[in-house]
Amino acid sequence: MNTKFYVDMEDIYGAHNYSPLDVVLTKGKGIWVWDIENKKYLDFLSAYSAVNHGHCHPRLVKALCEQAKNLTLTSRAFRNDQWPLLTKELCDLTGFEMVLAMNSGAEAVETAIKAARMWGYQKKGIPENQAEVITCENNFHGRTITVISFSTEEHYKKDFGPFTPGFIEVPYGDTEELEKAITHNTAAFLVEPVQAEAGIIIPPEGYLKKAKQICEKNNVLFIADEIQTGLGRTGRLFACDHEGVKPDMAVIGKSLGGGCYAVSAVLSSREILGVFTPGSHGSTFGANPLACAVAREALRVMEEEKFSENSEEQGGYFLKKLKTIKNKYVKDVRGKGLLIGIELKPEAGGARRFCEALMKEGLLCKETHEDMIRFAPPLVIKKKELDWAFKKVKKVFKEIG
Ligand SMILES: *Cc1c(COP(=O)(O)O)cnc(C)c1O
Repeated sequence: MNTKFYVDMEDIYGAHNYSPLDVVLTKGKGIWVWDIENKKYLDFLSAYSAVNHGHCHPRLVKALCEQAKNLTLTSRAFRNDQWPLLTKELCDLTGFEMVLAMNSGAEAVETAIKAARMWGYQKKGIPENQAEVITCENNFHGRTITVISFSTEEHYKKDFGPFTPGFIEVPYGDTEELEKAITHNTAAFLVEPVQAEAGIIIPPEGYLKKAKQICEKNNVLFIADEIQTGLGRTGRLFACDHEGVKPDMAVIGKSLGGGCYAVSAVLSSREILGVFTPGSHGSTFGANPLACAVAREALRVMEEEKFSENSEEQGGYFLKKLKTIKNKYVKDVRGKGLLIGIELKPEAGGARRFCEALMKEGLLCKETHEDMIRFAPPLVIKKKELDWAFKKVKKVFKEIG
């Protein structure tokens, strides 16, 4: 069974909603993965930051297996003994008062929007069905119909309408436009502290802080989508922490499940998340004991292995090294912690061919949009391995450039 066998089978029977690199992985350990031909690669994407812990972290595998032997799913018709512990531990860690668990990131974003609308009607007094949520240009918050309703990416929306109304878009990084867009019916402002999918777009310094102040002044909820940037990726627990901003709601997912299990959550205050009443929202698998046991251990590992500190240190180190690459195709190199991107000029012929060349060198990363190479290794990576990766990057740029 070679690579072609799997690629062909997937292409025949699987829907083509992705264009993966043709590497068929079968094993992972820490920052390394192996393909079916036993070739070893450094994972420089971490499943879009869902694998911050590295692959098959022994403590997470243990937590998963032990919980799987005891109890995996009860539904919320009954209580289980893992969810209460996760709620308390998450709140203690993050300083929020209440948490609601879902499975995927998009579901958690939808949950935050539902909470914001409900809060808007019940607490702010917005007239029924008039609530507005302000979102940013070039946002990425997931793929459900409501979430793509406020996407500005034509490709994400084409032929999926009609869309959910109630969303107003403003330019990212522009607080004046935000302030202008606010009306009496604005329930919330939803923002990514760094726009990762859009191409590692880092807003001007002070943007989040100013935006939060504007929201406060106007009684508008500030919702941070920290699904990709949170839990250490940018060098802080939350990317909002860089500006000392405490959102009214934070949405997390991806690495909350330690790369072992799909689990997401909305974190907020009692005043806001308290609006939900029995029957107003739910999920069969949400807050299941297996998810909770894995998430609890994932949070402990994140803290004990100091992911944020390592991300800040190694990210700074790697960014500095990347900036020494002198190449005619490189337009910009930027990042925060271990969320780093190389933006190429249009004449570079797209980021894809660079990613393919890096793959041949044993470094797995993926283009985002046309011209951006994203580097987001697991947060357990060390200098020595980054030095190795840097050599590969340098070599590929030398060969192609
Ligand atoms: C990945 C991501 C999502 C969607 O998460 P899914 O689990 O794929 O639904 C939402 N927002 C951001 C910022 C993301 O990076």
